[in-house]
Amino acid sequence: MHNITVIGTGYVGLVSGTCFAEMGNRIICCDVNKDKIAMLQNGEIPIYEPGLKELVAKNVAENRLFFTSEIGEAIEDSDIIYIAVGTPMAENGEADMRYVKEVAKTIGKHLNTYKIIVNKSTVPVGTGELVRTIVANNRINERIHFDVVSNPEFLREGSAIADCMNMERAVIGATSDKAAKVIAKLHEPLKTKIFMTDLQSAEMIKYAANAFLATKISFINAIANLCERVGADVTQVSEGMGMDSRIGGKFLQAGIGYGGSCFPKDTFALAHMADQAGYDFTLLKSVISTNEAQPYVMLKKLQDLFGDYAGRRIAVLGLAFKPNTDDMRCAPSLVIIDELVKQGAIVQAYDPIAMPNARALLPAEVTYFDSVEAAVTDCDACLILTEWDEITGMDLASVRKLLKYPFLVDGRNCFSLQEMYEHGFVYHSVGRPAVL
Ligand code: NAD
Repeated sequence: MHNITVIGTGYVGLVSGTCFAEMGNRIICCDVNKDKIAMLQNGEIPIYEPGLKELVAKNVAENRLFFTSEIGEAIEDSDIIYIAVGTPMAENGEADMRYVKEVAKTIGKHLNTYKIIVNKSTVPVGTGELVRTIVANNRINERIHFDVVSNPEFLREGSAIADCMNMERAVIGATSDKAAKVIAKLHEPLKTKIFMTDLQSAEMIKYAANAFLATKISFINAIANLCERVGADVTQVSEGMGMDSRIGGKFLQAGIGYGGSCFPKDTFALAHMADQAGYDFTLLKSVISTNEAQPYVMLKKLQDLFGDYAGRRIAVLGLAFKPNTDDMRCAPSLVIIDELVKQGAIVQAYDPIAMPNARALLPAEVTYFDSVEAAVTDCDACLILTEWDEITGMDLASVRKLLKYPFLVDGRNCFSLQEMYEHGFVYHSVGRPAVL
């Protein structure tokens, strides 16, 4: 059993802190955002993540999970400190390290006993050393030692708890064997593979993994765009490709491009890191530009139906960057809806969970509805941007009746061409022949 402080109670900090508590440790989750902490102390969960509310309540009731904004006190009470603050994209594309630096300073000031400082945030190579320097420069007593470990996070929003409790591997990068072993032991209840490496390689593994997954997505989107021109079906192509175990079928679903809080910023940060190191990472830069172009492929399909959107009423189903999350950060829906509104379309939106977050980011002209049926009523066309179960399972016959015209543009290949034909839709999807 360890006393652990997790700094930052976002998607990563709150989920991994709760999972560490579930494994029997005493966890203090802290954050500078006092509203978040007040909510958590009241049993409310500031983010949407399936199963999280129940797991937090259980561990709070069993006295293993605590919340505070008194970060200094939490640090002093703990032997392991996890850093899980945001590392958003700065204007020039690099990772903004201000929160990590701030936390390192706070840790230094409250270093009252030997502690292991573990970085879970996604950070550029060299950050472990930077944290070490900041902590060392801020500690009050030079005789108190500490170690820095990199233990990047690989959970996915929407299935974060399952990912955390059944992780495929834990990457642990450290200079101190002793500290690495403590963090490896912490993961023992998970019976997962432990990959021990140096600090720098651990930091790079996280960026390389995300950039590789982003590459798979941009690759299949490029193949989809080509399929449309040469008469192939990308869903067949990816299924056939994925059967090769060297390739694998995951992350080969063509769509409207990747979004979310990680892939866009991490690909930019890695490209920036490469530039700084004097390496022109053209492959990664193409992945980024292919992704940025993909939402416009959907817009073009919609535009081809009408000539222009002015005065057209468009239903947009799904706003979150993927199903089962309320996260709207870098969602492709932001680019697509912005463009529609700019060109005079009237947007009627629906998302099962992400609408409160979407309101803050989308143009004020967008109107929100509380069901698929309400959103599509009297629309000239329907655009699907997120494959929520509720959307892939919608009643096509009633949607067809409620729409003014039978136009459906599907950015997620939710339906078979055959069923759309049978329901009488004019149906455009990604990398597949159109149903006319
Ligand atoms: P988030 O924005 O949801 O949460 C970050 C939290 O840190 C916020 O609550 C913020 O108030 C808090 N914070 C900022 N500065 C602080 C400080 N000085 N002291 C205490 N708290 C502070 O971010 P997230 O999505 O949880 O991501 C955290 C890190 O994990 C990022 O580096 C991200 O790239 C990485 N990551 C995210 C995911 C994901 O799916 N979200 C997956 C793997 C890795």
